[in-house]
Amino acid sequence: MKIAVLPGDGIGTEIVAEAVKVLKVLGLKFDMETALVGGAAYDAHGHPLPEATLKLAMDSDAVLFGAVGDWKYDKLDRPLRPEQAILGLRKNMGLFANFRPAICYEQLVGASSLKPELISGLDILIIRELTGDIYFGQPRGRRVATDGHFPGAEEAFDTMRYSKPEIERIAHVAFQAALKRKAAGKEGRVTSVDKANVLETFQFWKDVVSEVGKEYPDIALDHMYVDNAAMQLVKEPKRFDVVVTGNMFGDILSDEASMLTGSIGMLPSASLNSKNQGLFEPSHGSAPDIAGKGIANPLATILSAAMMLRFSLNQEAAAQRIEAAVQKVLAQGLRTGDIFSAGTTKVSTREMGDAVVKALG
Ligand code: NAD
Repeated sequence: MKIAVLPGDGIGTEIVAEAVKVLKVLGLKFDMETALVGGAAYDAHGHPLPEATLKLAMDSDAVLFGAVGDWKYDKLDRPLRPEQAILGLRKNMGLFANFRPAICYEQLVGASSLKPELISGLDILIIRELTGDIYFGQPRGRRVATDGHFPGAEEAFDTMRYSKPEIERIAHVAFQAALKRKAAGKEGRVTSVDKANVLETFQFWKDVVSEVGKEYPDIALDHMYVDNAAMQLVKEPKRFDVVVTGNMFGDILSDEASMLTGSIGMLPSASLNSKNQGLFEPSHGSAPDIAGKGIANPLATILSAAMMLRFSLNQEAAAQRIEAAVQKVLAQGLRTGDIFSAGTTKVSTREMGDAVVKALG
């Protein structure tokens, strides 16, 4: 089981160290190799995704990723910015399906800005398509930018596109996920989010998802416009089971959903290709505002490592052990600053990692 460990920038190094610590005490044999990515790689090698890092990722069963980015790189031309490393990894590894579970831990119900009754027991899954949409359409690469901006320009544009095979494969992923969740007692519903009332691309998306849906008679399918979905996520989030959507809407909705659960510091994610090789990372960024202070919440990264064991390394039992250990430390009242509330005990990044290791038993 070969794991490429790419901590990246900001809090990335701090939180990945805790996840690695947890992986090391599971009693499993991993071949873990670390490499630079993002701004750290740009500083050392002049590129956010050096060839050696990409090769390591491609040759591994899974990538454990921290986060990349810092405002100090905002003046770089777009292809050299740290965030491009993620797009490069997704593209080269063929990672097309992004899974973001939004689960509200009972102990953290009070940390959400929503009323407890709205989010208590919340367990939804947002699936975002990663390879198409406006992020990869024309005119990528045809820009003439200075310092990442367009002095004197009168307009700028990006083109939204999706191919039928791209929509079909993400739709199958969503229906399959809904089947698995139904087997585990969930509702068995896919909500496809689009903007078919305005965008041709998303009328096409809706038609193709409906066609695929006919192959899954046991799963209910409904369609929702993205503006309504954004509203329903905060009005009645438990109405959803599996949500599937395109790259841009998924980017926005999954961040919105993450806040339902209290803190973005709690939310893992997985990006998979058709061979179940994957990149696993917390849903948040590099948090430059708190980097180096030892206060970041490492649980999203530790839970991402659990997803890695489940999806790419076929170690379901170990994944469940980690998830149970996280529940246990929350039940013990241990909290990093982002999820702290009166009556709980504030701990550092490292103390939280140590507590998870201890809770593994
Ligand atoms: P962010 O997610 O880094 O931070 C948003 C807020 O959440 C900040 O206040 C931060 O302190 C807090 N936060 C995030 N993770 C936390 C954690 N584990 N524990 C406690 N608090 C946490 O988003 P941002 O500030 O908009 O972006 C910062 C940089 O990260 C930018 O350069 C951005 O491009 C990059 N970014 C990278 C990724 C990625 O690597 N996948 C994703 C999003 C943003």
